[in-house]
Amino acid sequence: MKTLAVDIDNVLAASAESFIVISNKLFGDHITISDYNEDRQKMWCVDHKEAERRCEVLQANKYQKNYLPVYGAVQAINKLGKQYRLVLVTSRPKFAEELTKNWLKQHFDYNFGTIVFAGFWDNAKNSKDGHLRHKGDLFTQVGADIVIDDQLKHCEAAVETGIRTILFGDYAWNKANELLSGITRCIDWTEVIKELEIQ
Ligand SMILES: [Mg+2]
Repeated sequence: MKTLAVDIDNVLAASAESFIVISNKLFGDHITISDYNEDRQKMWCVDHKEAERRCEVLQANKYQKNYLPVYGAVQAINKLGKQYRLVLVTSRPKFAEELTKNWLKQHFDYNFGTIVFAGFWDNAKNSKDGHLRHKGDLFTQVGADIVIDDQLKHCEAAVETGIRTILFGDYAWNKANELLSGITRCIDWTEVIKELEIQ
């Protein structure tokens, strides 16, 4: 059975849409989906200290708990789970593990055996350039044959190690004039199912 490494945020969870609503409410901003950026400091237009403070406020509010699944993700995972070994590789910090597992249980029937938390933001030293890190080594470690991720940098890191990659979604942050050979964009789960030739 081949191994499919799947991302969580903006692939299984409609994170950006949900995040913006929650963030605007907490901080009184008017950020839209086209402003969304994994580099929170840039997205909020604040200094590093303020970005850290806001991240703490968000965490205290357990903001990821109320994310909705991406349209079609639940059905697609059920189908894919019959033909692939599915592992999750997420940039979420280790402390979000319990919340993430509960969220997955709440929305998905599939029992994800392996969930890797990249830890790009796990401590203050890392958090400053967490957005620059990629999952390349982690994909290799979990033995991924195929990767599904919405971030170009992770897809590019995967194809560099010879892993076939699906760039998920048509988002403001993953626009590209040209994709590296080995990367195929699928704008939604229907396209993923077609691309992987699942019945
Ligand atoms: Mg993602």
